[in-house]
Amino acid sequence: MSAALDLVDLERRARTFAMGAAGAVHGAVDEDASARRALDLLAEQDLLRWTVPPAQGGHDTHDLAADDTVSVRALCAVRRGLAYGSGMLDVMFVEQGLGAFPIVLGGSPKLQSSVLPEVARGTRVSAFALTEVGAGSSVNEVALSAAATDDGWRLNGAKTFISNAGLAAFYTVLVRTGGEVGEREGLTMVYVPADARGIEVKRFEVMAPHPIGEVHFHDVNVAREHLLGEEGQGLDLALGTLARFRTSVAAAATGFARRALDESMAHLDGRRQFGKPLSAFQGLRFDLAEMDTRVRASELLVDEAAELVDTGGDATAAVARAKMYATETASFVCDRAVQHLGGLGVKRGSVVERLFREVRALRIYEGTTEIQRVILAKDILRTHRERNS
Ligand SMILES: Cc1cc2nc3c(=O)[nH]c(=O)nc-3n(C[C@H](O)[C@H](O)[C@H](O)COP(=O)(O)OP(=O)(O)OC[C@H]3O[C@@H](n4cnc5c(N)ncnc54)[C@H](O)[C@@H]3O)c2cc1C
Repeated sequence: MSAALDLVDLERRARTFAMGAAGAVHGAVDEDASARRALDLLAEQDLLRWTVPPAQGGHDTHDLAADDTVSVRALCAVRRGLAYGSGMLDVMFVEQGLGAFPIVLGGSPKLQSSVLPEVARGTRVSAFALTEVGAGSSVNEVALSAAATDDGWRLNGAKTFISNAGLAAFYTVLVRTGGEVGEREGLTMVYVPADARGIEVKRFEVMAPHPIGEVHFHDVNVAREHLLGEEGQGLDLALGTLARFRTSVAAAATGFARRALDESMAHLDGRRQFGKPLSAFQGLRFDLAEMDTRVRASELLVDEAAELVDTGGDATAAVARAKMYATETASFVCDRAVQHLGGLGVKRGSVVERLFREVRALRIYEGTTEIQRVILAKDILRTHRERNS
């Protein structure tokens, strides 16, 4: 048994680094330059190694991950720290793991050993491609067609809302090799190098810095050796990847929220109106108490979910609770922080203005709040019925 990993120290190191690096990342000339700068700095700090298994260049998880792949507790510690300082650092960190995890789950040993160490070093950028115009919350609607060829498949169709579109060196893509659109059956996951002939990327912007866009596939050939898992098993790989990474979205939300709370407290203590500090007014003090309690509750829910995922327990309800509560809380806390700063809260360039925009998407990606409610209600009702039958 190896020594225990100090998660508190890991979070503190990630936070200190992010606070120091945020200026260089957010001050880059454009979004791509900012993303690349973030990736280089994360690689320099050796942080990307938390996104792949130890056997393929990742850090030793010190027995935290029961399956010896990627520790969710370590991911959460890093994301909490990074999100406190910079949304771009947080996004570029996690996308490496999200795009690579289907290879961890189902890639051939050859593919794993050629791709994953480079993901850990930041020299190959990952992207995870599920969503389509017609397939959002309902992944069964995936339609991107993969017609069989002599030695693999030919892809036609498009993905949208793909983080790292255009920056990525490869996409792990959910495609339809059989069945009808709307059916669970016939979905398959494949590895597609970004320089494959027939790929076209169309970038768009979202409300906070985040490299994202559409990826179009025009007669793109995929070799059989780039199949991930087995044909028809794609949904298991996609959902298995989300199950591993979703809790870390909640962790990032707590990092953003904690920063907003700290910004609020500093401002309310420092700013005087009506002859006293704003922090002397009971209405605002009650706000702080509410914000603090919700952030702490979020952190505890994240810790519970991450431990369950790491140890291979039944984490369904815990992960849904953590994702739903922490991301909703982050929006609530960032909104209150904007209010506490008054005009400065909406002034472009202020920290809380940035946080307010950065947290919004967390309630949407990797399963919306409503989908977490659907999952949670189903799971708690099932447990209730089993207990009472
Ligand atoms: C910043 C950002 C980054 C992203 N990155 C990626 C990526 O890298 N790869 C990728 O594949 N995708 C990515 N996505 C896509 C994301 O996963 C989807 O946006 C998300 O799954 C929701 O799908 P949708 O946008 O089609 O919304 P829809 O599914 O159309 O939902 C619209 C609304 O209806 C609600 N709704 C849907 N079904 C139900 C239901 N059964 N009950 C109650 N309410 C329901 C939803 O909660 C939502 O409020 C990203 C999205 C964003 C915003």
